[in-house]
Amino acid sequence: MKLTKQFMLLLFLLLNINANAFTENKLDPNSLEKKVGDLLSSMTLEEKVGQMTQIAIEVVSQDSQDLGGYHKLDPEKLRTAILDYHVGSILNVMGAAYSLENWHDIITQIQDVATKESRLGIPIIYGIDAIHGANYTTGATIFPQSLGMAATWNPELVKKTSEITAYEVRASGIPWNFNPALGIGRQPLWPRLFETFGEDPYLASVMGAAYIKGQEGDDNDIGRENRVASCMKHYLGYSFPFTGKDRTPAYIPDRLLWECFVPSFKAAIDAGSHTIMINSSEINGIPVHSSYFYLTELLRNRLGFEGFVVSDWQDVLNLHTREKVAESRKEAVRMAVMAGIDMSMVPMDFSFYEDLVALVQEGKVPESRIDEAVGRILKVKFKLGLFDDPYPNKKLKNKFANDEFRAVCLQAARESITLLKNEDRILPIAKGKRILVTGPTATRLSVLNGGWTITWQGNDERLYPKDKLNILQALEEKFGKENVTHLEGTTVEEEVDIAAAVSAARTADVAIVCLGEEAYCETPGNITDLTLPEAQLRLAEQIEATGTPVVLVLTEGRPRIIRRVADGAKGILMAYLPGFEGGVAIADVLAGDFNPCGKLPITYPRYPNDLTLYDHKFSENDVEFKRYNPQFPFGFGLSYTHFEYSDLVIASDTIRGDEQLQIRVTVTNVGDRSGKEIAQLYLSDLYASVTPANKRLKRFRGVHLAAGESETVSFTLQKKDLSFIGRDNKPVVEAGEFKISVGNLSGNFFYVNDKTNGTNF
Ligand code: BGC
Repeated sequence: MKLTKQFMLLLFLLLNINANAFTENKLDPNSLEKKVGDLLSSMTLEEKVGQMTQIAIEVVSQDSQDLGGYHKLDPEKLRTAILDYHVGSILNVMGAAYSLENWHDIITQIQDVATKESRLGIPIIYGIDAIHGANYTTGATIFPQSLGMAATWNPELVKKTSEITAYEVRASGIPWNFNPALGIGRQPLWPRLFETFGEDPYLASVMGAAYIKGQEGDDNDIGRENRVASCMKHYLGYSFPFTGKDRTPAYIPDRLLWECFVPSFKAAIDAGSHTIMINSSEINGIPVHSSYFYLTELLRNRLGFEGFVVSDWQDVLNLHTREKVAESRKEAVRMAVMAGIDMSMVPMDFSFYEDLVALVQEGKVPESRIDEAVGRILKVKFKLGLFDDPYPNKKLKNKFANDEFRAVCLQAARESITLLKNEDRILPIAKGKRILVTGPTATRLSVLNGGWTITWQGNDERLYPKDKLNILQALEEKFGKENVTHLEGTTVEEEVDIAAAVSAARTADVAIVCLGEEAYCETPGNITDLTLPEAQLRLAEQIEATGTPVVLVLTEGRPRIIRRVADGAKGILMAYLPGFEGGVAIADVLAGDFNPCGKLPITYPRYPNDLTLYDHKFSENDVEFKRYNPQFPFGFGLSYTHFEYSDLVIASDTIRGDEQLQIRVTVTNVGDRSGKEIAQLYLSDLYASVTPANKRLKRFRGVHLAAGESETVSFTLQKKDLSFIGRDNKPVVEAGEFKISVGNLSGNFFYVNDKTNGTNF
């Protein structure tokens, strides 16, 4: 409880800092329209098409740069891009993260040319991937990756981490963040699973919306100096490649699309996100970048998105070179723009600009479409306040990466850690025990952070800050160096000294075996086997065979199969990719200084060929053949205390029409220490005209309870929570019996249909 209170106080202080320090900057919509209209009418075709063109920083940089050195732009290349090609946007980092000062110089140089030397003085909108903190600015606060944040089941904390990210990105002089990833993580092989909020559409919707509000503020006033424009990505279906390989086809029937993949985007659009990035790949044979249906009919007409659409990396060109739906480069540009792409992340040349200018001149793309796209882009630039002041606000340096931010970061890592097994109460480990630490993830920071950390792949250990603790260092600090022995055991793939680790285990009281993956992201992270590499399994297996109790600590971006070593381990801790404070957080949990409360946001499979998810159909869980048999189910996670559920009250046994349903349940901490439980409410539609899922998450709530304390948690279900996508592919609510389950309790109710068509999305 003590920690919790301190944390609440911290949040309160931070919220106050945010509320007081920044002034209102909201633009009235009419004057905004007028400003955009006036500017558009004074622009040439070339200037307009330039606004739709986004290039990478490489294009305007000096060729040779030291990795991690002071990055230098090339003034001539910069002038060519902005003055000759009128580019409206630049992105990314070349090589590795830059210092705040370096970013300030870069952005200042860019905006000087754009606003002082160009005819109309339109500022550049610079975009960056700040995926788990401002990961391309040195010294920034680096949080757990999104999958770990989802494991906290704590939207307030997600929002807080997002606010800090927004602050540190803006402090770098950058107003636009290409995050959050709102794909639903239902393909565990996919190397970008860790960027998602997990497998459940409801959990991802809640977390995604909280993230958007953290980036843009509750009022979405992105003109405030501590806010950025968020960018939902990657719309739509990117997270579900059939093969599990990045940027490969998804096959998604309409019903699944609506039920599973649309809701997180809809929630983020409703939360006001200003921009959206597109799925690099295809759905059912249609590259999303070429689809008028996905980019305009669905996104704008049905989901109500009003911001601007940016392509993903080179994906307009890819319609020609990779997807093969356009016979020429120019046709690819026509297709993408007419489908609804407003800005092309070209990003390595000016081909998009040249082709699009020509297409308009030839009458193949109407200028009205250009005006529409540019209008949307300019609107976001105005809202960001770039026309008032496009330069970095150097004052923001004051609070950059301060101790309060670090405390939030540590709290996020702690709350993400998910205790999956604790046989014989092996954890927490008492002080004074002799501990062996082994395994490939014990002594490095890159393996705790994953891709998008300092570099794109996040795997350059040399560039990580020296003052952050890896798991071994954190354990030495916690338990005393004299009590900790370390042997590497294996690298991620290869044996190093398993025999020595095994013999050291014989004299230890407990062996902490740190397993996981190298850092990766996107296509380089593709794998062909979800099983944890053989060398690591052998290390754990042989240490388990000594009889010394083993605790597995998993730091990984996806659930690598551990079946062979899970039964023999006494304790298992899933830490995902916990960020810069991950080592400390893991040590806190192992020592019992923090009581773990994370819950899996994904199903942890037992077999590589059994990837059945939690919300499977009834037929997928045949009791006789135990078809649904994951290593650990979605929503699972233990605590050092124990919680019991009682008195489930479903306020009415029948609801009709638009009536809401109240549900109450009491949660009691029956253990001997305080802790946090996440009460999860699932709904099952017992019979429906389309085979129903066995259950679906509908609500959740975190409760902090002291030992012996109880709390009654209330939930309200709306009619739309009962809906599903019917045989005609439209949402419907059908009469019949439903079951609610919370913890180990359940109860039923009936919905009586007064001829309803359900709820529109
Ligand atoms: C990724 C995007 C990212 C973009 C810019 C692409 O390869 O798919 O998520 O925002 O690069 O770095």
